[in-house]
Amino acid sequence: MTAKPAIVPPAAVAVIGLGNMGVPMGACLIKAGFAVTGFDLSEAARKNFAAIGGRVADDGASAVASADVVITLLPNGRIVREALQALRPHLMPAAILVDMSSSDPIGTRTLGEELIAAGFAFVDAPVSGGVKRAANGTLAIMAGGDTATLDRIGALLAAMGTSIFRTGALGSGHAMKALNNYVSSAGLIAAVEALRIGRKFGLDPALMTDILNVSSGRNNTTEVKLKQFIISETFADGFPLRLMAKDVRTADDMAHALGIPTPLADVCAQLWEAAAQALDEKANHTEVLRYMEGLDK
Ligand code: NAD
Repeated sequence: MTAKPAIVPPAAVAVIGLGNMGVPMGACLIKAGFAVTGFDLSEAARKNFAAIGGRVADDGASAVASADVVITLLPNGRIVREALQALRPHLMPAAILVDMSSSDPIGTRTLGEELIAAGFAFVDAPVSGGVKRAANGTLAIMAGGDTATLDRIGALLAAMGTSIFRTGALGSGHAMKALNNYVSSAGLIAAVEALRIGRKFGLDPALMTDILNVSSGRNNTTEVKLKQFIISETFADGFPLRLMAKDVRTADDMAHALGIPTPLADVCAQLWEAAAQALDEKANHTEVLRYMEGLDK
């Protein structure tokens, strides 16, 4: 059997979900020469994509009708399933579906198997690096699924990321993404707790950050979040708290499904969920500081 052709510019790509990540990632695809059509349920999101020169469809069906590749960048796996089920009758035969959202890996396996059985190609390729690296096209991408499909979309992924990993079978990218965010979230909580303890003891938070960053306590939060968003209380890095809570819960659910005791992940998942409930729906994940300060009262 001859290999199917690689997806290269100016192939048609639909981006479903034009939020914090969909807009800059769509912009990278446009820059690379792909013919991108975006769709989002929210009019404000559609306007944001149009403002950067993106072509916007009036509905999901028209966005995907002639797309060789459909990328989903939606809040969670349940929404991805619902969206793809609704779009399914309108997809090109043998279209490649790439879920770049941070979805639940077990749900991804089931959804992917159904779509593959219906003749579509489906892979998971979630990302890490946040809005800034989405805008620069320097995301880390963790791609799971069959290698022939991943070979075909190599140029597409390279337009959005610079560290592209193949993680194995369908769903493995999503599993890796949830585990990454669990590690990141636990590091953030530890850094915020240390900051609060240190401040009350009389240490200067900025000095603490400088020391952590050249010492063994250094982590992603100490390097790119403490001064920038937490001590400054700007809380504006583009990653909503509700999405972090979802990712940590996904990682903890994986542990339970696999029968692995994870006391820290259990506590972490509960803490992020409690913070998501206590704070505004739009709260940034760095605002977990505000939730933790609320525990003092
Ligand atoms: P977001 O909430 O900003 O955007 C999601 C968009 O999807 C919204 O604009 C919403 O209106 C739209 N939407 C919801 N249901 C829809 C549907 N059925 N059809 C079309 N549009 C629909 O989220 P985001 O920050 O862009 O994140 C997208 C995904 O990427 C999430 O799974 C998230 O966990 C993951 N992610 C986000 C970041 C980040 O820093 N923001 C980093 C890495 C991964």
